[in-house]
Formats: sequence, structure tokens, C-alpha cells
Amino acid sequence: MAAAWLASEKNRRKTVQSKRLKAVIVTHLFGCMVDMKRVLEICAENEIKVIEDCAQAHGASIEGKMAGSFGAAGCFSFYPTKNLGALGDGGAVITSSVALADRLRSLRQYGWKEKYHTAVLNGRNSRLDDIQASFLRVKLPLLKSWNLRRRKIAARYCELITSEQVTCPPIDSYGDACVAHLFVVRCVDRERLRNHLIARNIGCQIHYPVPDHLQEAWMDTSSNVNLPVTESLASQVLSLPCYPELEDDEIAFVIRAVNEH
Ligand SMILES: *Cc1c(COP(=O)(O)O)cnc(C)c1O
Repeated sequence: MAAAWLASEKNRRKTVQSKRLKAVIVTHLFGCMVDMKRVLEICAENEIKVIEDCAQAHGASIEGKMAGSFGAAGCFSFYPTKNLGALGDGGAVITSSVALADRLRSLRQYGWKEKYHTAVLNGRNSRLDDIQASFLRVKLPLLKSWNLRRRKIAARYCELITSEQVTCPPIDSYGDACVAHLFVVRCVDRERLRNHLIARNIGCQIHYPVPDHLQEAWMDTSSNVNLPVTESLASQVLSLPCYPELEDDEIAFVIRAVNEH
């Protein structure tokens, strides 16, 4: 969405004119990477830093370059439902800047530069728990095969969902740049499809029901933001089951249910 925003000539002018903009956070939403070349080009021209939100894109890559390695920093979540998940909360930031890495290390532990010596403001306790880290170490080598399985499931959905009411995401066109964190279809009568799936005990969710600019917390600052495409999509999107453990006959069951709705 950030890429779409920046790609519009009008928005870009607006963005550049408001000199206040220092950084852009791009989210590789649903596990499909944003066109980073384009984003970096635009941001470099205007001295805007890029931060990648990779919480849904562990292991995705563009021409062999991994998600999180394009911007000034890449942020990962290891929440249990992510492509690489701990058994509890966790996360990591990656960067190739030594200075930024030092600052982040301070920030994750109260802003300390050394024990009991606070050097950086706004620090917090954000340490990755040792126990969670050890689970992640065991799971990390499996990430590639899990991502492949997710992509295979997504490809099967794209190939075999033929309902004219349902639009599948263009997973194929992404190649390695998509790790199919979520498989999100669009459906004009989304509620009917959703009820149909729920009646068959098929888990499905809406990612996400409320766009950022309509969140209550942002109401004061985003009241003049107009994003009709985002709002229309929010009323149409539905996520189908997509995770490595899903069995072939379960995939077929979902596809049949979607096609007959
Ligand atoms: C899960 C997620 C987050 C939040 O991760 P936490 O570990 O809860 O901080 C942020 N951005 C995206 C895109 C996510 O999917």
C-alpha cells in the first residue's frame, strides 16, 4: 500500500512537499513483498529512510535479496502465527548499520549503554526471551520448506478456485517475493462466502476489518485522509486457511466449499 501511495504522482508531490516526512514504513503485507526497487528509488531521491515491516514475510526475497535487507532496518515478529513463530511473543530488527544496531540494542534494554547507565531515551524492555530464542533456533532451518508448502497451497487455490464471485491474489507473479503468509481473496458478497465457510467449519478471517486511517486512535490525525480503494477492499477481503500443516484433502475441501458458495 505504501508503494501504491508513493507511486501516485500526486501523492508523491504531497509527500515531498511536506518536508516533515523522515521515514516510510513499508509492510510486506500477507507475505508478498512491496516493489522495493521503486520505493527505494523514490525515497532516495527525497532523502526518506525506509523501514521494512517483515512480520509477514520471513524468507521472502527479490532476486535473491531477502526481505528486511533493503531498507535502513527490517522488523520481524515471531508471534506464534507468523511464518516463523516462537511459542510466545518475540521479534527482531535487522540492519547493516553498526550505529543503528548499537542504538537498537540500547533501546531494547531500557536505553542502557551498559548496566544501569541509561544513554538513550525511550528505551524499553524488549528482550527476546532465551527460551523463545531456543525454539526459534530449532524452527529456523525449517522455514524454507514451510514457505514452499504455503506457496504450494496458495498455487493450488489460485488454480482451482473458479467461482466468478471470488478473486484470488496474483501469487504467481510474485515468485520468491511471496511466502503466502495469508491467502486473501476478494469477494463482493463477502459475508455470504464467510457464512458459507463457517457453516462448513472452515476457519476464515478478515485481514483487516478496519483500515488504519479509520482506527479510533487515529481519528484526530487522519480525518481528512481519503482512501476509497482501501475502504472498498476492507469490505471484500477474506483469508482462507493457508499454513504448512494443511493437508491436501483439506485444501480440496476448502476449494469445493468456495466454488459452490
Ligand atoms: C504481527 C504483525 C505485527 C506485530 O508484531 P508483534 O510481534 O505483535 O509486535 C506488525 N506488523 C505486521 C504486518 C504483523 O503481521
